[in-house]
Amino acid sequence: MTTSPDLTFHDGHTIPQLGYGVFKVDPDIAADVTGQALTAGYRHIDTAKLYANEEGVGRAVRESGLPREEVFVTTKLWNDDHRFEDAIAACEASLERLGLDYLDLYLIHWAVPEQGLYVEAWKALIELRSRGLVRSIGVSNFPLAELQEIIAATGEVPVIHQIELHPYFQQRELREAHAGHGILTQSWGPLGQGKSDLLDNPVITGIASAHGATPAQVVLAWHLAHGIVTIPKSVTPSRIVENLEAADVKLTAEEVAAIDALDRPDGRGGFDPAQRRD
Ligand code: NAD
Repeated sequence: MTTSPDLTFHDGHTIPQLGYGVFKVDPDIAADVTGQALTAGYRHIDTAKLYANEEGVGRAVRESGLPREEVFVTTKLWNDDHRFEDAIAACEASLERLGLDYLDLYLIHWAVPEQGLYVEAWKALIELRSRGLVRSIGVSNFPLAELQEIIAATGEVPVIHQIELHPYFQQRELREAHAGHGILTQSWGPLGQGKSDLLDNPVITGIASAHGATPAQVVLAWHLAHGIVTIPKSVTPSRIVENLEAADVKLTAEEVAAIDALDRPDGRGGFDPAQRRD
């Protein structure tokens, strides 16, 4: 069975580098597909309050028969809970829905700069960790200025930053900043969310043929080669397995460089964290 390598956070905890994401997974099937992922060998699940499927994810983890410490569970604080006491209560509610007594990782889902509460939310995550509800704390979708601001305001560096990242949108500026702070980069939408021709790109399909691999595996292997933590989503049983087996695909330096050259200035597929939401 394929297993993902672990990477180590600056706080000493570890995270399986290749996990399973459940954005847009219907709550009715969340327990089933998460159970399939765990059976396939995934040991890292990425959910969020927003996804409305924490209950199913938690059930699958609890019913997997795996010791709790062998499965890494992430969930996220939603935008309307950035006030300190709201954030504490939101984490407790997520744990309740998951049926777990701690999270491996809790993330602020979006900075929402115009709301101006991200420093307060970050202080709440620090408190949640000191209360033992959360092992590690990080952020998602922070522009660089807001990332630097929470570090300057608290002296506390997120262990990871989860951002949109794929070969058409490589986020080099943020990745360099992360490296400077010892923050791991985590890619959401690692396969481009099906919004572009990424998996049909001839550079990708050519490398896939050379390895007897699929285009999705080549894209995921590129994330892994760069030391990025990634969380592809699929509800198709064969693809759930296929995506984890990307950990067995080792690209050459030339192949990584060829995919590096696919970066595009207009490659963002999702919402820009620096934009106002209204
Ligand atoms: P993704 O890039 O993982 O794309 C998923 C889609 O790609 C699937 O729905 C399917 O259509 C296709 N796909 C999956 N495996 C495939 C394969 N082997 N071959 C061909 N096509 C395949 O996009 P995503 O789900 O948006 O991102 C992954 C995870 O990241 C999410 O599930 C979620 O956990 C997380 N996420 C976080 C944020 C955030 O704001 N922090 C935003 C989006 C997603």
